[in-house]
Amino acid sequence: MKVAPYHTATPEKEDPGHRDVYHDLSDCPDGLRIKVANRSAGMAGRPKCDYCKAH
Ligand SMILES: [Zn+2]
Repeated sequence: MKVAPYHTATPEKEDPGHRDVYHDLSDCPDGLRIKVANRSAGMAGRPKCDYCKAH
């Protein structure tokens, strides 16, 4: 499902690579790995993640 853009606000060492993009799908596997506490709204000037782009 499409949702408002979101991204992780803090570097997540356990999830390298997922902090440099934003997501706009609620079921994106990479987006789901972002901890709820670290989830921020907006694109933060980042490119869209590959999964969200392709779905
Ligand atoms: Zn995504």
